[in-house]
Amino acid sequence: MTEYPMRIGGQDVRTSEARQVELPYDGSPVGTIYLAGSEQVAAAIAAAAAAAPVMRETTLDERSRILRRAHDRLAAQREEMALAVSSECGKPLKEARAEVDRACQTLLFSSEEAHRLCGEVVPMDASPAGKGRWAMTLREPLGVVGAITPFNFPLNLAMHKIGPALAAGNAVVHKPASSTPLSAVLMARLFEECGLPKGALNVVTGPGGSIGDQLVFDPRVKMITFTGSAEVGVRIRNLAGLKRVTLELGSNSAVIVEDDADLDEAVPRCVAGSYAHSGQVCISVQRIFVNRRIRDEFVERFVAGAAQLKIGHPHDPSTDISSLITVGEAERVESWIAEAVEAGARLAAGGRRQGSTIQPAVLTGVPPEVRISCREAFGPLVAINAYDTLDEAIRLVNDSEYGLQAGIYTRDLGKAFLAARRVHVGGFLINEVPSYRVDQMPYGGVKLSGAGREGPKYAIEEMTEVKLVCWKG
Ligand code: NAP
Repeated sequence: MTEYPMRIGGQDVRTSEARQVELPYDGSPVGTIYLAGSEQVAAAIAAAAAAAPVMRETTLDERSRILRRAHDRLAAQREEMALAVSSECGKPLKEARAEVDRACQTLLFSSEEAHRLCGEVVPMDASPAGKGRWAMTLREPLGVVGAITPFNFPLNLAMHKIGPALAAGNAVVHKPASSTPLSAVLMARLFEECGLPKGALNVVTGPGGSIGDQLVFDPRVKMITFTGSAEVGVRIRNLAGLKRVTLELGSNSAVIVEDDADLDEAVPRCVAGSYAHSGQVCISVQRIFVNRRIRDEFVERFVAGAAQLKIGHPHDPSTDISSLITVGEAERVESWIAEAVEAGARLAAGGRRQGSTIQPAVLTGVPPEVRISCREAFGPLVAINAYDTLDEAIRLVNDSEYGLQAGIYTRDLGKAFLAARRVHVGGFLINEVPSYRVDQMPYGGVKLSGAGREGPKYAIEEMTEVKLVCWKG
């Protein structure tokens, strides 16, 4: 397939504005999309609004079966979908295959959660005025959910919105990132083949500013579920009024490595967590705080590990590191490295740019005020700094406007749980990197990293309304 028209109400939709999607590695064309104007966005919202009552009436069994069929079909199309994902976002094929496998898991968990969608009995007569009353809660779908997704996990992060939304009985308008719309269109078709009612999943492709605003302002859209940058997320939050909003935003994730850590375990995991998809992962390991007593050994082993990574074309199955999403992003990362070095950091390895690709960079002694320390880098680099006490390490981890996930490597459970209690994040990992995620776990951030939780069980809570039904017998 070379042409990827939008899907609105179960129909292909083209506009007069066609655009090439390019492989970020070398700019070669990988598909044609069409840019939506306000007419197409309005049509998608209307199609979803028409499908919402149909979805609401589907049984849990029907929703679960559709999601299960989507899981089975996606698993059967693993290679085709992995190639589409790798082509649109430039991630190495082996990571794209892993993303397809995770998207299958997300659909499976969504299918299972559809079976568990229920309210609870309310103990009314626990209150003196409740005598003789019985009550229960129902979880009802919201109606139309607007899903806006980023470029870095174009498939799985879309499934984290679409799977739970459909399990909860909603209809969806999905706006994928402009650079990565191919898998979104393929998934809309796949869902229709699995028996999803027409209009229950619509995909509009085009610029975030205009489409996003239209979704946020249209009163028929009851919720915006957004994954992307803090800048856009805060803007949506400020414009959304009473509309329900969940925000999965960025971070500059940190891990602490104590002097009793198992370095055979910690070093390879930190290397993998720092450079997967060239660091373009919201929970990429960006800051490593190492106990000063083992700092030199850690850095030496880390640099050796980073040197093993093979840089190359994303479609080469042996490639570990490929390009960033654009040359401009690679230039930005390059300039952040230069800024840190100018401020006194040591570039221990990597950092050289060729087009949109950057060699995995290791920086040590990075001052706290430079952007690599305090902003989200979203590139293949890591800042390794030494600390003397665990209290100091915890303070350094918390010295961030973000709070998505963090981790610690130590054999001492007392230290581990002290850090788990004191570090202010949405998820804390002991003897694991903060980049670790499985798709059923509650996932989301505090501070500038967002609001609300994903993972099908938790997303369904966000995507349903609790209604109380009380009966006086
Ligand atoms: P982005 O620039 O914020 O874009 C995300 C999505 O928002 C895209 O679909 C984009 O469309 C759209 N958009 C842009 N402007 C908009 C507006 N004014 N209103 C509504 N939507 C708008 O983010 P990105 O560069 O694609 O992704 C990287 C960011 O996502 C990083 O910060 C990363 O940490 C974050 N992220 C977070 C998580 C998480 O789960 N916490 C996971 C992955 C990524 P266009 O592409 O058309 O501009």
